[in-house]
Amino acid sequence: MKDIPVDVGLIYEGERIRKSSMYVDLAGPKSKGAELLLVVPPEEVEDGRVEVVGPDVDQMEEGGRYPFGILIKVAGEKLEEDLEGVFERKLHYFCNYIQGFMHLNSRDIIWCRISKDAAKKGLKLEHVGKVLVNLYKSEFDVIEKIQVTFYTDEKAVDEHIARAREVYEKRDARASAIKDEDVDVFYSCLLCQSFAPTHVCAITPSRSGGCGAVTWFEGRAAVKVDPSGPIGEIPKGEVIDPVKGEYSGINEYVREKSNGTIERVYLHSLFDYPHTSCGCFEAIAFYIPEVDGIGIVHRDFHGVTPFGIPFSTMAGQVGGGVQSQGFLGISIAYLRSPKFLQGDGGWRRVVWMPAQLKERVRSAIPEEMYEKIATENEAQDLESLRSFLEQKQHPVLEGLKREEEKEAPEEEPAATMPELTVPVQATAAGAPVEFTITFKNARIYAEKVIIRRKE
Ligand code: SF4
Ligand code: ZN
Repeated sequence: MKDIPVDVGLIYEGERIRKSSMYVDLAGPKSKGAELLLVVPPEEVEDGRVEVVGPDVDQMEEGGRYPFGILIKVAGEKLEEDLEGVFERKLHYFCNYIQGFMHLNSRDIIWCRISKDAAKKGLKLEHVGKVLVNLYKSEFDVIEKIQVTFYTDEKAVDEHIARAREVYEKRDARASAIKDEDVDVFYSCLLCQSFAPTHVCAITPSRSGGCGAVTWFEGRAAVKVDPSGPIGEIPKGEVIDPVKGEYSGINEYVREKSNGTIERVYLHSLFDYPHTSCGCFEAIAFYIPEVDGIGIVHRDFHGVTPFGIPFSTMAGQVGGGVQSQGFLGISIAYLRSPKFLQGDGGWRRVVWMPAQLKERVRSAIPEEMYEKIATENEAQDLESLRSFLEQKQHPVLEGLKREEEKEAPEEEPAATMPELTVPVQATAAGAPVEFTITFKNARIYAEKVIIRRKE
C-alpha cells in the first residue's frame, strides 16, 4: 500500500508478536482500551481523516504500555445502525493484515501490539488508520465516508471507553427484546474459521456470537449488505429441543460448514452437544463437577478460577473450534439472555464468577441468586467454594444431595420400630447384672427371622 512503511496483506493475519519482539503494547490486560464503530450522518464524517489524540508510536517509549481507543465513524446511504457490530468486528481482521501490528479480542477487551521491526520501519498509528480507511472502503461499497480516531491519551481513552460501553449496552439490550421462538431465520458467522476451521457461530436472538460483536440484528443487517460475506442465513428448521436449544436447521448447517465434524449443537447447554468455541470469546462457562455447578470467567479477570487455573489456560483448552464437554466460550451479552444456559438450569446452576463480572451483569442475575454466587473474594479453590455454597444454601447442593442418595447402594427393605427395648443379662465382676438397651426409631435388617416357642 502506498505511503505505508510496512506490508499489508492477508498473509500477516496469523502473525503473532511475542513479548521479546514487541515495541509497545496498546490496551490489553494490564492497561485499558476499547474499539467502537459508529454509523453516523454523512455531515459528521470527514472522509479519509485519521486523527491521533495523544502520543503516536514515534513518541512512545520502547517496551511501554499505553491505554488505547479506536473510534471509527462511517456514513453511507444504505448503512444502518445494526451494521455497527459487524463492521466493528472486521477491525480485528483488517488490523491483523498489517505487518507488525497485532490485534486481539473485541470491544473493551482489545489488546494491540506493535513489533520492534515495524516501529523501526516507522509504522505509526496514522498509517494504521490509513490502512483501515482503505480496507473498509474497498471491502464494503456501502461505506461512502469513513474517519478514524485513535486515543492514547489516558483521559481521552477513559471517555472513549465509557461511551463505547454505553453503545454496547444499547446494542445488547435491543437484541434481548426478541427471543429465538420469535423468528424463522438464524444467522451464522464463519469469520473465525480462519483459525478455527470447524467453528460455526450460530447467532440467534437469544445468543450472540462468542466475541460479542455480532447479534442477531447485526447478522440480519450484514446479510443484506454483503450476501456472499462470512455471515449467512440459517433456516431454523424444526425445533428438536426448545429448552436446550436444538434446531434441525442449525444441525444441518453446522454439519455442512464444519465438513461433517460437528453433528449436533445445543445453543443453551454445556453438555452433550455444546456450541463450539473459537478463541475470541469474551468469557467461558465451565462445569465444576465437585459441586455440580457452573462457573463463569471472563477475559479481563487475571486471578485463578476455583480449578486453580486462570482464564488464559482454560481458553487454550477450550478454543479451536471443537465441542468441549462442560466448557463453552460465550459473549458477555449471553449472560443477559433470558435463555442463558437454560438447558442446564440457568442462573440457579451458577456458583462462581469474578466479582467485577458479577457486578457488571448484576441486573441479569435473579435477585435470590445474587448472594449465593461466590466470587474470588469468597472462594479461591474447590474447598472454600463448597463451604460458601453450603453456608448460602445454594440450590446446586440439593441436586448434589439427590445425586449422592441415588449413588448410595440400594438398601434392603427394613422394618422401622419407633422404640425397641432389649433386656440384656451380663456378668460384672462375677455377679450377674441385668439392664436394658433401648433403640429409638430402629431400622432392623435381618437375613432370616426364626421364631421358636419356648419348650
Ligand atoms: Fe463471528 Fe463468532 Fe468469530 Fe464473532 S466469534 S467473529 S460471531 S465466528
Ligand atoms: Zn472467534
